[in-house]
Amino acid sequence: MKIRTRLTLYFTVSFTIVYIIFAIGYAFYLKKVILSFVDKQLLMTNEGVLKFSGISDLKSIEELKSFTFSMPNLKGADKEFYKYFDFIIYDKNKNLIKKMRDEIDYSFEKDQVKFNMEYYNIVVDSNNTIFTNMTGDTYLILRAKINQFKLGNDTLYVMTILPINYEMHYMITFRNRFLSGLLVTIIILFFTGIFFISIMLSSINKITRNINTISPHELDKRLIVKNKSDEIGTLTIAINGLFDRIERALNLEKQFVSDVSHEFKTPLTGLRLSLERLVNSPNLNDEESYQLGLSIESLYSMDFLVKKLLYLSKLEEGNYPFHPEKVNLIEILEKVYNNLIIIADDKKISFKMSHEMNEILINADDELLYIALYNIVENAIKYTDHGAVLILLNTYHNRIVISVEDTGIGILNDKLDDIFEKFYRIDTSRSKTQGYGIGLSISKRIIDLHNGKIVIESIPSLKTCFNIELPVDESNKYISQ
Ligand code: ADP
Repeated sequence: MKIRTRLTLYFTVSFTIVYIIFAIGYAFYLKKVILSFVDKQLLMTNEGVLKFSGISDLKSIEELKSFTFSMPNLKGADKEFYKYFDFIIYDKNKNLIKKMRDEIDYSFEKDQVKFNMEYYNIVVDSNNTIFTNMTGDTYLILRAKINQFKLGNDTLYVMTILPINYEMHYMITFRNRFLSGLLVTIIILFFTGIFFISIMLSSINKITRNINTISPHELDKRLIVKNKSDEIGTLTIAINGLFDRIERALNLEKQFVSDVSHEFKTPLTGLRLSLERLVNSPNLNDEESYQLGLSIESLYSMDFLVKKLLYLSKLEEGNYPFHPEKVNLIEILEKVYNNLIIIADDKKISFKMSHEMNEILINADDELLYIALYNIVENAIKYTDHGAVLILLNTYHNRIVISVEDTGIGILNDKLDDIFEKFYRIDTSRSKTQGYGIGLSISKRIIDLHNGKIVIESIPSLKTCFNIELPVDESNKYISQ
């Protein structure tokens, strides 16, 4: 999941939780306020019932039993209030003494009082709370309050009952509004979250894009720091610092390679020349000549490696004297072929070059191009134990494609880009061949210098084809422009 989505979800979920906690808390508070208001009203009504009806003036239970309660003549809102208003009086043994409405039956069961009305049953517990019931469409929500009072020597209880439908309706409206508000809030939060987080993350995306545009040859480039004090600024400074360290390390490595190869070059050549002189001495026996021959061979390959390293460091520093001129590609390829045929013959693999033209003019530095092609063809022979290596030439618009095909060990597709990296060798255990992983990185740099490209096709354990594409000179007679 993307950081943007994750942050938006965290943001939305936490705000929703805060919203719900606040709404639940507020709903409880509202209910408490409303009910305490209703309870106050009920207590006042309790006193009022006893006072204004004249019940408090009575002397005994008998008088109360024969007392006729007359409803005050009320109008408007008061009349509406008393429509469902009710009260009962009972003694401490829960015997009903008086009820306001004759048509309603009341009964006490355990510590509960039950009202049997036409439309509803209500249960009120001794803590004088609520009870509601529905019959068909008609329902009432009631709240009751019990008060103790003295009538003569007797202690009696008066319970007044009030409908609180209006208050409950208010609560339900609040709940519904809160629920629909919650949905709208979540949607708004989600989209505003996405919007603001996208703005914040856009700087990080920009940094990623900028880093991706820095190629391995442009490690001296740095990211622009807009605001040093914010987190993005700190991150950018840290990345720039990392680039500084990488650049320094790479420069050190290049310097090291260049210095070491320079230091090795002269003594190696001297050593090789001395041994070559020595090997022709008549005083040596066969075994000594053979051993000296082996040493000279090793010195040749070391000499070649040092040369390669020097080429590489010069190409990397960009200070190799690159002198392109009109040269005949066929001549360069024939030189490569002639220098490698001995190795192919030695390995008993077929090595052929097929072309119909004697001359293909290209703008190239012949020394560099020779090295580039030599490395690729040498690899084809090196990594082929049986079968053949073939060099083919094809023209394609104003470009020439040199294909070096072999029937060797092949290269896995996911390694095709890596093999151009300096010192990279595919799992060395898969071939007995020696190498240092620098041939192809040199070839790639040289072909790039010539505005060409290398495309590889390979089937592991079957074949490999290196296609080297180069622009041809406009003066070529044979190639369609
Ligand atoms: P090395 O000195 O190891 O040959 P290179 O830079 O020339 O170094 O090649 C890099 C790696 O690419 C080699 O180690 C080898 O694994 C792989 N490779 C190059 N050419 C071929 C080929 N024709 N067939 C199979 N593998 C190859």
